[in-house]
Amino acid sequence: MDDGSTQNFNSLRVQHNDALGPFKGGIRFGPGVSLDEVKALAMWMTWKTALVGVPFGGAKGGIICDPKRFSKRELEALSRGYVQQFVEYIGPDKDIPAPDMYTNAQIMAWMLDEYEKLTGHHVPGAFTGKPVELGGIRTRESATGYGGAVVVQQVARLLKMKPKSTSVAVQGFGNVGHSAAQFLFDAGYKIVALSDSQGAIYNKKGLNPAAAMTCKIEKGKIAECYFAGSVVNGSKSGVISNDELLELDVDILIPAALENQITAKNAEKIKAKAVVELANGPTTPEADKILQQKKTTVVPDVLANAGGVVASYFEWVQNSYGYYWTDEEVYDKLSDILVKAFGRVLGKSGEHKADMRTGAYLLAVGRVAKAIELRGGI
Ligand code: GLU
Repeated sequence: MDDGSTQNFNSLRVQHNDALGPFKGGIRFGPGVSLDEVKALAMWMTWKTALVGVPFGGAKGGIICDPKRFSKRELEALSRGYVQQFVEYIGPDKDIPAPDMYTNAQIMAWMLDEYEKLTGHHVPGAFTGKPVELGGIRTRESATGYGGAVVVQQVARLLKMKPKSTSVAVQGFGNVGHSAAQFLFDAGYKIVALSDSQGAIYNKKGLNPAAAMTCKIEKGKIAECYFAGSVVNGSKSGVISNDELLELDVDILIPAALENQITAKNAEKIKAKAVVELANGPTTPEADKILQQKKTTVVPDVLANAGGVVASYFEWVQNSYGYYWTDEEVYDKLSDILVKAFGRVLGKSGEHKADMRTGAYLLAVGRVAKAIELRGGI
């Protein structure tokens, strides 16, 4: 620590399955990170990569800590410490970490540097979500949000919604929620509510995500931005709670924050026609049943937020080639993969008269099971 003391933090890496390729998944920092959470997230990565057809398995990592309390130097020490613990399990053909909650390109850069120091050679493909200068791709940071926006557009087509008259509420204004809101705003959708961990703002006439971000950076929290003219084009928007945001009368609800946000307690009150899960695991199984009965279209996380890992796959491919594509190529290829995956999930759920989550799991689990079978079983 900066004061010269030493502190220990519990670090986790869970490798769930690698039948289809090397383990793949992010590393999150947070005080609430637990082994059970990381296990669940590792399993979701297995289904996610299998579903969209990128040649990876599933893993997840975490450090139990409060990242907001660290200085930059302490964060670097923590990131390097993680790699020192797990170096033998990581590698471009073994297990490829990436950013997740409270981790970013700078943290991947420190981790890669530590990994290369310990192994003695350049291995850019050992981590994805790196800065561009170290072999990352510019579009990686916005890729999950971009993919989410592609999926929302597919849902809107399915439910015959026109962008201009489609209202969207986004819970979570981190990297994923912010970029999804921005891409949808640019495509003409009406973003009516935005939130961060400290509160939400709502305006029926629509909000401007870029202005909301500028205001959030300036004021520290989004709930302070209700009076900012540029955010709401002059009209006053309301400050509401995160719970109220989930229950708004909107066309599309995008949970882009934490797990377990839509539960048996509030599922009945969800008015959105479609829920597009940009967070991992935002809907509990009980809530999922209620939403199914209400005929709410739920696009499962393993499909809706797969844009991030697809971009990671492109980064890994480019690292092994040493040849880099343009942003347009990346966005086009990403969009192509997600549109096809959306169509396949819809087809599968239709075939089985089931919801989209069941359709997605039938496809993903089936592919992993087939790979295990071909390898001779467990
Ligand atoms: N952390 C992201 C996710 O949950 C991306 C993982 C990756 O790129 O490996 O999908």
